Amino acid sequence: MSSDGPRWFEKVEGSKRFGAVVKPMESQGPDLWTRCPGCHEMIFNETLESNKNVCPMCTHHFRLGAFERLEFLCDEGSLDYHDEHLSPTDRLEFVDSKSYSDRIKASGKKTGRNDAFIAASATIFGLPIEIGSFDFRYMGGSMGSVVGEMITRMVERATERKRPCIIISASGGARMQEGVLSLMQMAKTSAALTRLKDEAGMPYISLLTHPTTGGVAASFAMLGDLILAEPKALIGFAGPRVIKETIGQDLPPGFQTSEYLLDNGMVDAIVNRGDLRKTLSTLLRQFLNLPSLVQEDESVNTSNRAVAAGGPVLVKPARGGGN
Ligand SMILES: [Zn+2]
Repeated sequence: MSSDGPRWFEKVEGSKRFGAVVKPMESQGPDLWTRCPGCHEMIFNETLESNKNVCPMCTHHFRLGAFERLEFLCDEGSLDYHDEHLSPTDRLEFVDSKSYSDRIKASGKKTGRNDAFIAASATIFGLPIEIGSFDFRYMGGSMGSVVGEMITRMVERATERKRPCIIISASGGARMQEGVLSLMQMAKTSAALTRLKDEAGMPYISLLTHPTTGGVAASFAMLGDLILAEPKALIGFAGPRVIKETIGQDLPPGFQTSEYLLDNGMVDAIVNRGDLRKTLSTLLRQFLNLPSLVQEDESVNTSNRAVAAGGPVLVKPARGGGN
């Protein structure tokens, strides 16, 4: 947003420039505020944006765009995107309330992308990686043939180049409009990850963000050498209502949240968005037996390979006894 000239609330009759109590969502102004569902405070959108879409009051994690996420996780200017030309086709001529062809066109127009995944080569604190993120705006981040192919190519690139791989999931699961073709992607991506481990010996970190469900949760998203999650993300295969009806029992509180999965051993750590970049770097360097970097702030010089004690602390509760 431009900082030139008065802002909309400064033009409102009777408002004071400083300390004015301005009613948010005034009908005469553009949508500049967001109400946080975590603490119900109104947050100035500019503040939210500069805080990577995390509420500064209660740390509620709002959804973050795929490009924005890759840009803040990776080193500036290091992103080299791949396979952006791949676009889906309506092989089954599938029609539900709309035809799949129309959905493809509408999602393309809305996002300016050909499908719901973005793959790139990049560096993170100087370490070369292959990284990919779902774009939830494109048909709910669903996985069809193109998404599966892009993930597979990304993992194969990591295998060839002997680089670690990171996948950031935000997905409603397999794309029903592609039927069995989308289900096949679960096996294809999983097989590629096995080759990454067997042939290149490289680690794969899966980051689960809100929401990660269906065929994505049931395949590569849960196959990480490490599985990280953002706080309070919805993670699961089927929705709670379906499970409740199937098993005929009430579900425990917090079911299918990151925190619940951490307590039950399905997730290795919950990491706040602000700590992700450093945490990913630290973990990858530990996997690769590289010395830690001094990472006190974002201005760290990546050529400075001094060994630092400590690093970001993972949120992992100490477990009592058990089997
Ligand atoms: Zn909040």
